[in-house]
Amino acid sequence: MKALVLEEYNKLVYKDVPDPEIRTDEVLVRIKACGICGSDIHGLDGSTGRRRPPLIMGHEASGIIEETGQGVTRWKPGDRVTFDSTVYPLDDWYTREGKYNLSDNREVLGVSPESYKRNGAFAEYLAIPQHILYKIPESVTFEQAAMVEAAAVALHAIKISGTRTGDITAVTGAGMIGIFVIKLLKISGSGKIIAIDKNPLRLSGAQKCGAENLFDPSELNLGEKIRSLSDNRGTDVTFEAAGMGESVNISVEITRKGGTVVLIGNTSQVIEFPLQKVVTKELKVLGSCAIRGEYDVILKLLENRKLIVDDQISAVAPLSEGTLWFSKLYRKEENLNKVILVP
Ligand SMILES: [Zn+2]
Repeated sequence: MKALVLEEYNKLVYKDVPDPEIRTDEVLVRIKACGICGSDIHGLDGSTGRRRPPLIMGHEASGIIEETGQGVTRWKPGDRVTFDSTVYPLDDWYTREGKYNLSDNREVLGVSPESYKRNGAFAEYLAIPQHILYKIPESVTFEQAAMVEAAAVALHAIKISGTRTGDITAVTGAGMIGIFVIKLLKISGSGKIIAIDKNPLRLSGAQKCGAENLFDPSELNLGEKIRSLSDNRGTDVTFEAAGMGESVNISVEITRKGGTVVLIGNTSQVIEFPLQKVVTKELKVLGSCAIRGEYDVILKLLENRKLIVDDQISAVAPLSEGTLWFSKLYRKEENLNKVILVP
Protein backbone atom coordinates (compact mmCIF):
# COMPACT_ATOMS: atom_id res chain seq x y z
CA MET A 1 0.00 0.00 0.00
CA LYS A 2 0.95 3.67 -0.26
CA ALA A 3 1.70 5.61 2.91
CA LEU A 4 3.18 8.90 4.02
CA VAL A 5 6.20 7.86 6.06
CA LEU A 6 8.24 10.03 8.42
CA GLU A 7 11.57 8.47 7.40
CA GLU A 8 13.66 10.77 9.54
CA TYR A 9 12.94 14.05 11.29
CA ASN A 10 11.75 16.67 8.78
CA LYS A 11 11.60 14.08 6.01
CA LEU A 12 8.19 12.82 4.92
CA VAL A 13 8.11 10.42 1.98
CA TYR A 14 5.07 9.09 0.10
CA LYS A 15 6.03 5.52 -0.71
CA ASP A 16 5.11 1.84 -0.87
CA VAL A 17 5.07 -0.04 2.42
CA PRO A 18 3.82 -3.55 3.33
CA ASP A 19 0.06 -3.87 3.92
CA PRO A 20 -0.88 -4.18 7.61
CA GLU A 21 -1.95 -7.61 8.85
CA ILE A 22 -4.98 -7.94 11.11
CA ARG A 23 -5.25 -10.00 14.26
CA THR A 24 -8.42 -11.90 15.16
CA ASP A 25 -9.93 -9.00 17.12
CA GLU A 26 -9.03 -6.40 14.48
CA VAL A 27 -10.52 -5.01 11.29
CA LEU A 28 -8.69 -3.68 8.26
CA VAL A 29 -9.90 -0.16 7.51
CA ARG A 30 -9.46 1.40 4.08
CA ILE A 31 -8.71 4.99 5.10
CA LYS A 32 -10.88 7.62 3.38
CA ALA A 33 -9.78 10.73 5.30
CA CYS A 34 -7.13 11.61 7.88
CA GLY A 35 -6.64 15.04 9.42
CA ILE A 36 -3.24 16.56 10.14
CA CYS A 37 -3.11 17.32 13.87
CA GLY A 38 -1.02 20.07 15.46
CA SER A 39 0.82 17.35 17.36
CA ASP A 40 1.84 15.74 14.03
CA ILE A 41 3.25 19.06 12.85
CA HIS A 42 5.18 19.54 16.10
CA GLY A 43 6.24 15.90 15.94
CA LEU A 44 7.78 16.38 12.51
CA ASP A 45 11.00 17.99 13.75
CA GLY A 46 11.52 15.74 16.76
CA SER A 47 10.87 18.52 19.28
CA THR A 48 8.20 16.57 21.13
CA GLY A 49 9.99 13.22 21.19
CA ARG A 50 6.67 11.51 20.39
CA ARG A 51 7.10 10.79 16.67
CA ARG A 52 10.35 8.81 16.45
CA PRO A 53 10.97 7.78 12.83
CA PRO A 54 10.41 5.70 10.87
CA LEU A 55 6.69 6.17 11.50
CA ILE A 56 3.37 6.60 9.70
CA MET A 57 1.60 9.38 11.62
CA GLY A 58 -2.13 10.18 11.66
CA HIS A 59 -4.76 9.59 14.35
CA GLU A 60 -7.81 11.63 13.22
CA ALA A 61 -9.26 9.35 10.61
CA SER A 62 -12.23 7.58 9.06
CA GLY A 63 -12.74 4.89 6.48
CA ILE A 64 -14.50 1.73 5.33
CA ILE A 65 -13.99 -1.73 6.77
CA GLU A 66 -12.33 -3.91 4.14
CA GLU A 67 -11.79 -7.11 6.08
CA THR A 68 -12.54 -8.43 9.57
CA GLY A 69 -10.59 -10.76 11.85
CA GLN A 70 -12.09 -14.12 12.87
CA GLY A 71 -13.10 -12.89 16.31
CA VAL A 72 -14.95 -9.82 15.02
CA THR A 73 -18.74 -10.18 15.15
CA ARG A 74 -20.23 -6.67 15.37
CA TRP A 75 -18.58 -5.28 12.24
CA LYS A 76 -18.60 -6.27 8.59
CA PRO A 77 -16.87 -5.24 5.38
CA GLY A 78 -18.42 -2.07 3.97
CA ASP A 79 -19.19 -0.47 7.36
CA ARG A 80 -18.26 3.22 7.51
CA VAL A 81 -16.24 3.82 10.65
CA THR A 82 -14.13 6.19 12.66
CA PHE A 83 -12.06 5.18 15.66
CA ASP A 84 -10.56 6.41 18.89
CA SER A 85 -7.00 7.68 18.67
CA THR A 86 -6.14 5.68 21.80
CA VAL A 87 -5.70 1.93 21.52
CA TYR A 88 -6.34 0.85 25.09
CA PRO A 89 -6.11 -2.57 26.74
CA LEU A 90 -9.36 -4.05 28.04
CA ASP A 91 -7.74 -5.94 30.94
CA ASP A 92 -6.47 -2.90 32.80
CA TRP A 93 -7.33 -1.41 36.19
CA TYR A 94 -7.96 2.09 34.78
CA THR A 95 -10.08 0.75 31.92
CA ARG A 96 -12.21 -1.19 34.40
CA GLU A 97 -12.54 2.02 36.44
CA GLY A 98 -14.04 3.64 33.31
CA LYS A 99 -10.90 5.64 32.62
CA TYR A 100 -9.46 3.97 29.54
CA ASN A 101 -7.75 7.20 28.47
CA LEU A 102 -5.42 6.73 31.44
CA SER A 103 -4.91 2.99 31.09
CA ASP A 104 -1.43 1.51 31.40
CA ASN A 105 0.12 0.34 28.15
CA ARG A 106 -2.29 2.36 26.02
CA GLU A 107 -0.95 3.41 22.65
CA VAL A 108 -1.87 6.30 20.41
CA LEU A 109 -2.22 5.72 16.68
CA GLY A 110 0.57 7.30 14.65
CA VAL A 111 2.67 7.97 17.72
CA SER A 112 6.05 6.64 18.78
CA PRO A 113 7.50 7.78 22.12
CA GLU A 114 10.27 5.79 23.86
CA SER A 115 7.97 2.98 24.97
CA TYR A 116 6.21 1.92 21.73
CA LYS A 117 5.65 2.54 18.05
CA ARG A 118 2.16 2.42 16.53
CA ASN A 119 1.65 3.32 12.89
CA GLY A 120 -1.24 5.63 12.04
CA ALA A 121 -3.65 6.51 9.27
CA PHE A 122 -1.68 8.49 6.69
CA ALA A 123 -1.87 5.31 4.63
CA GLU A 124 -4.27 3.37 2.45
CA TYR A 125 -4.99 0.79 5.14
CA LEU A 126 -4.81 0.51 8.92
CA ALA A 127 -5.51 -2.39 11.30
CA ILE A 128 -7.81 -1.31 14.14
CA PRO A 129 -8.97 -3.32 17.20
CA GLN A 130 -12.75 -3.70 17.09
CA HIS A 131 -13.33 -2.18 20.54
CA ILE A 132 -12.23 1.32 19.47
CA LEU A 133 -14.47 1.54 16.38
CA TYR A 134 -17.51 3.82 15.98
CA LYS A 135 -20.07 3.71 13.17
CA ILE A 136 -20.39 6.88 11.10
CA PRO A 137 -24.02 7.99 10.57
CA GLU A 138 -25.08 8.00 6.93
CA SER A 139 -25.38 11.77 6.64
CA VAL A 140 -21.88 12.39 8.01
CA THR A 141 -19.06 12.52 5.46
CA PHE A 142 -15.65 10.88 5.91
CA GLU A 143 -14.05 14.33 6.12
CA GLN A 144 -16.46 15.38 8.87
CA ALA A 145 -15.82 12.10 10.67
CA ALA A 146 -12.08 12.83 10.59
CA MET A 147 -12.86 15.89 12.76
CA VAL A 148 -14.53 13.83 15.50
CA GLU A 149 -11.31 13.07 17.39
CA ALA A 150 -10.45 16.74 17.95
CA ALA A 151 -14.04 17.60 18.89
CA ALA A 152 -14.13 14.68 21.33
CA VAL A 153 -10.97 15.98 23.04
CA ALA A 154 -12.76 19.29 23.58
CA LEU A 155 -15.93 17.60 24.82
CA HIS A 156 -13.95 15.52 27.31
CA ALA A 157 -12.52 18.71 28.83
CA ILE A 158 -16.02 20.19 29.15
CA LYS A 159 -17.35 16.97 30.65
CA ILE A 160 -14.77 16.80 33.43
CA SER A 161 -14.98 20.56 34.12
CA GLY A 162 -18.43 20.29 35.69
CA THR A 163 -19.53 23.42 33.78
CA ARG A 164 -23.12 24.37 34.59
CA THR A 165 -25.75 26.02 32.39
CA GLY A 166 -25.21 29.77 32.37
CA ASP A 167 -21.63 29.68 33.66
CA ILE A 168 -19.27 32.37 32.47
CA THR A 169 -16.45 30.59 30.69
CA ALA A 170 -13.22 31.51 28.96
CA VAL A 171 -11.02 29.72 26.47
CA THR A 172 -7.34 30.66 26.24
CA GLY A 173 -5.96 29.60 22.87
CA ALA A 174 -8.47 29.62 20.00
CA GLY A 175 -6.84 26.94 17.83
CA MET A 176 -8.61 23.79 16.67
CA ILE A 177 -9.37 22.44 20.16
CA GLY A 178 -10.17 25.88 21.59
CA ILE A 179 -12.70 26.52 18.82
CA PHE A 180 -14.33 23.15 19.48
CA VAL A 181 -14.55 24.00 23.19
CA ILE A 182 -16.33 27.25 22.29
CA LYS A 183 -18.75 25.55 19.89
CA LEU A 184 -19.56 22.80 22.39
CA LEU A 185 -19.93 25.24 25.31
CA LYS A 186 -22.44 27.13 23.18
CA ILE A 187 -24.36 23.89 22.51
CA SER A 188 -24.19 22.96 26.21
CA GLY A 189 -25.85 26.19 27.32
CA SER A 190 -22.84 28.03 28.70
CA GLY A 191 -23.42 31.70 29.52
CA LYS A 192 -20.98 34.33 28.30
CA ILE A 193 -17.95 32.85 26.51
CA ILE A 194 -14.67 34.78 26.45
CA ALA A 195 -11.88 33.97 23.98
CA ILE A 196 -8.23 34.91 24.44
CA ASP A 197 -5.66 34.54 21.67
CA LYS A 198 -2.73 36.47 20.19
CA ASN A 199 -3.94 35.92 16.63
CA PRO A 200 -6.72 38.32 15.52
CA LEU A 201 -7.85 35.90 12.81
CA ARG A 202 -8.36 33.17 15.39
CA LEU A 203 -10.24 35.62 17.59
CA SER A 204 -12.62 36.51 14.79
CA GLY A 205 -13.11 32.77 14.20
CA ALA A 206 -13.92 32.39 17.89
CA GLN A 207 -16.43 35.19 17.63
CA LYS A 208 -18.19 33.51 14.71
CA CYS A 209 -18.55 30.37 16.84
CA GLY A 210 -20.16 32.20 19.73
CA ALA A 211 -17.47 33.88 21.84
CA GLU A 212 -18.87 37.24 22.94
CA ASN A 213 -15.77 38.92 24.31
CA LEU A 214 -12.35 38.74 22.70
CA PHE A 215 -8.96 39.61 24.17
CA ASP A 216 -5.31 39.59 23.22
CA PRO A 217 -3.33 37.99 26.07
CA SER A 218 -0.91 40.93 26.20
CA GLU A 219 -3.68 43.43 26.97
CA LEU A 220 -3.09 45.45 30.11
CA ASN A 221 -5.27 44.72 33.12
CA LEU A 222 -6.77 41.67 31.44
CA GLY A 223 -7.89 40.20 34.78
CA GLU A 224 -9.69 43.39 35.71
CA LYS A 225 -11.38 43.66 32.33
CA ILE A 226 -12.66 40.11 32.56
CA ARG A 227 -13.84 40.58 36.15
CA SER A 228 -15.79 43.64 34.98
CA LEU A 229 -17.62 41.36 32.52
CA SER A 230 -18.53 38.89 35.26
CA ASP A 231 -20.00 40.77 38.24
CA ASN A 232 -16.46 41.49 39.45
CA ARG A 233 -15.78 37.84 40.12
CA GLY A 234 -14.03 36.29 37.13
CA THR A 235 -14.93 33.29 35.04
CA ASP A 236 -16.53 30.21 36.56
CA VAL A 237 -14.52 27.89 34.36
CA THR A 238 -11.51 28.59 32.14
CA PHE A 239 -10.27 26.16 29.49
CA GLU A 240 -6.56 26.44 28.72
CA ALA A 241 -5.95 25.18 25.19
CA ALA A 242 -2.51 26.58 24.38
CA GLY A 243 -0.36 24.61 26.80
CA MET A 244 2.12 27.32 27.67
CA GLY A 245 3.11 29.19 30.83
CA GLU A 246 1.70 32.54 29.81
CA SER A 247 -1.76 31.26 29.09
CA VAL A 248 -1.87 29.00 32.17
CA ASN A 249 -1.03 32.07 34.26
CA ILE A 250 -3.72 34.10 32.51
CA SER A 251 -6.23 31.30 33.09
CA VAL A 252 -5.49 31.31 36.82
CA GLU A 253 -5.69 35.12 36.91
CA ILE A 254 -9.09 35.43 35.25
CA THR A 255 -10.89 32.57 37.03
CA ARG A 256 -13.03 33.45 40.05
CA LYS A 257 -12.29 32.22 43.55
CA GLY A 258 -13.43 28.63 43.87
CA GLY A 259 -13.59 28.31 40.07
CA THR A 260 -12.10 25.70 37.79
CA VAL A 261 -9.21 25.81 35.36
CA VAL A 262 -9.07 22.91 32.90
CA LEU A 263 -5.68 22.34 31.29
CA ILE A 264 -5.98 20.80 27.82
CA GLY A 265 -2.93 22.31 26.10
CA ASN A 266 0.15 20.13 26.34
CA THR A 267 2.92 22.05 24.59
CA SER A 268 5.40 22.98 27.35
CA GLN A 269 6.86 20.21 29.49
CA VAL A 270 7.38 22.50 32.51
CA ILE A 271 6.04 25.97 33.30
CA GLU A 272 6.20 28.51 36.11
CA PHE A 273 3.09 27.93 38.14
CA PRO A 274 1.28 30.65 40.16
CA LEU A 275 1.04 28.54 43.31
CA GLN A 276 -0.07 31.25 45.74
CA LYS A 277 -2.91 32.43 43.50
CA VAL A 278 -4.17 28.89 43.02
CA VAL A 279 -4.07 28.22 46.77
CA THR A 280 -5.57 31.50 47.96
CA LYS A 281 -8.30 31.46 45.32
CA GLU A 282 -8.96 27.80 46.11
CA LEU A 283 -9.02 26.95 42.43
CA LYS A 284 -9.63 23.51 41.03
CA VAL A 285 -6.95 22.86 38.41
CA LEU A 286 -7.71 19.80 36.27
CA GLY A 287 -5.70 18.10 33.58
CA SER A 288 -7.75 16.79 30.67
CA CYS A 289 -6.26 13.91 28.71
CA ALA A 290 -7.55 12.81 25.33
CA ILE A 291 -10.98 11.18 25.10
CA ARG A 292 -13.11 8.89 27.21
CA GLY A 293 -16.00 7.71 25.06
CA GLU A 294 -17.08 11.15 23.79
CA TYR A 295 -17.16 9.90 20.16
CA ASP A 296 -20.81 8.84 20.25
CA VAL A 297 -22.05 12.25 21.36
CA ILE A 298 -19.96 14.09 18.77
CA LEU A 299 -21.17 11.79 15.98
CA LYS A 300 -24.79 12.42 17.06
CA LEU A 301 -24.21 16.19 17.11
CA LEU A 302 -22.78 15.95 13.60
CA GLU A 303 -25.67 13.83 12.42
CA ASN A 304 -28.30 16.28 13.60
CA ARG A 305 -26.24 19.26 12.40
CA LYS A 306 -25.97 20.79 15.87
CA LEU A 307 -22.18 20.77 15.58
CA ILE A 308 -20.77 22.19 12.35
CA VAL A 309 -17.18 21.34 11.47
CA ASP A 310 -16.94 22.24 7.77
CA ASP A 311 -15.83 25.80 8.58
CA GLN A 312 -12.74 24.39 10.30
CA ILE A 313 -11.58 22.37 7.27
CA SER A 314 -9.20 24.48 5.16
CA ALA A 315 -8.28 21.87 2.57
CA VAL A 316 -8.92 18.29 1.50
CA ALA A 317 -5.93 17.05 -0.49
CA PRO A 318 -4.56 13.75 -1.82
CA LEU A 319 -2.24 11.86 0.55
CA SER A 320 0.39 11.94 -2.23
CA GLU A 321 0.63 15.70 -1.65
CA GLY A 322 1.04 15.23 2.10
CA THR A 323 4.63 16.45 2.23
CA LEU A 324 3.63 19.77 0.69
CA TRP A 325 0.73 20.32 3.10
CA PHE A 326 2.82 19.37 6.12
CA SER A 327 5.44 21.92 5.17
CA LYS A 328 2.79 24.62 4.64
CA LEU A 329 1.42 23.91 8.10
CA TYR A 330 4.90 23.71 9.63
CA ARG A 331 5.90 27.10 8.22
CA LYS A 332 2.53 28.63 9.21
CA GLU A 333 2.70 30.59 5.97
CA GLU A 334 -1.02 30.51 5.35
CA ASN A 335 -3.64 30.71 8.00
CA LEU A 336 -4.68 27.11 7.63
CA ASN A 337 -7.03 25.30 9.96
CA LYS A 338 -7.52 21.56 9.49
CA VAL A 339 -6.00 19.93 6.42
CA ILE A 340 -7.40 16.51 5.60
CA LEU A 341 -5.46 14.03 3.48
CA VAL A 342 -7.24 11.43 1.35
CA PRO A 343 -5.36 8.26 0.31
ZN1 LIG B 1 -4.59 15.14 17.53
